[in-house]
Amino acid sequence: MAGPHTHKLTLLSGMAMLLQSCSRETELYDVIYWYLPKIFSHVSGRICLQEKNKHTVLPVFEWGKPSQTAVAPKPLKCEVLGKGLPVSSRKTSLACCAYCVPLKDKDGVIGALCVGNPQFSLSEQYRKLALITAEYLSLSVSNIRLNHQLYELTIRDPLTGLYNRRYMDEILEKEFQRARRAGTALGGIMVDLDHFKILNDTLGHDAGDQVLKTVAHTLIHATRTQDAVCRFGGEEFFILMTGGTINDYLTRAGDLNTQISALDILWQGVSVGPITVSLGVAGFPVHANTPEILVHKADQALYRAKKQGRNQVVCAQL
Ligand code: GH3
Ligand code: MG
Ligand code: MG
Repeated sequence: MAGPHTHKLTLLSGMAMLLQSCSRETELYDVIYWYLPKIFSHVSGRICLQEKNKHTVLPVFEWGKPSQTAVAPKPLKCEVLGKGLPVSSRKTSLACCAYCVPLKDKDGVIGALCVGNPQFSLSEQYRKLALITAEYLSLSVSNIRLNHQLYELTIRDPLTGLYNRRYMDEILEKEFQRARRAGTALGGIMVDLDHFKILNDTLGHDAGDQVLKTVAHTLIHATRTQDAVCRFGGEEFFILMTGGTINDYLTRAGDLNTQISALDILWQGVSVGPITVSLGVAGFPVHANTPEILVHKADQALYRAKKQGRNQVVCAQL
């Protein structure tokens, strides 16, 4: 007859299979929520993970009764993170739980699996289960994060971090479908830096890149999370706004113009001088009924802004 340990190993391999099929971190939690309390049935524990793009490690999942729960969330102080090796409370007073196993990816420690209260030692059997569990978790989290990084590379412009034009086409398609269904409006703003070639020619390409990055940063901070900003071409950006009216889009474009003119961008400690932009605004359904026409109308309006002297906002014609 199968003993309790065999049963736990069966659970562990079931969990491993499901973890492999997760494509998001939130899905991992749905799996471990069911398995970990059964695998570690008499001890509590927690999983701590490094936040994406940050160095902070936070508890993301806990199991067990509060009375059994591994001591206060101080994973940053736990030796496991510095050493990258399992840590037992029997051997060090710095362990945050009875047995702490690092979760790792190819670059190093990304978190920890903490099992049991540090005042008690963990059985050999549970320590082995913790090691295998940590191995499976490490693999799943690092795969999911790697896939996410690869996906980000396909949708973003490397210089500015904004969406690229190809991804903007996808967003436009989706937002048009949504807007048509819901009977809501969309706005497009095309932004182009004025006389950018002169700046590049006089101060150099790296100074130009610095300007592009700063302008991109300004655009992102001046738009709402539900809006999308892309680098449309060399020194051209396109902003898609959801909802609102033509007046809202014009006001937003005016604000962007003011904010960019007020920038004092430094390159190697020296100001690059004032930067101005020209902006063209168009809306769905007022000016355009397809993504292509919206972009084209915003571009035409931008062209008129250039012709009329630059550093201004122009609205598309009906
Ligand atoms: P206008 O006011 O009519 O828009 O004039 P402009 O000089 O901004 O426009 P033009 O199209 O003549 O020149 C655009 C310049 O943008 C030329 C090119 O060197 C520069 N550019 C495009 N992509 C990049 C980039 O990635 N980095 C840098 N530094 N410059 C770029
Ligand atoms: Mg330009
Ligand atoms: Mg241009």
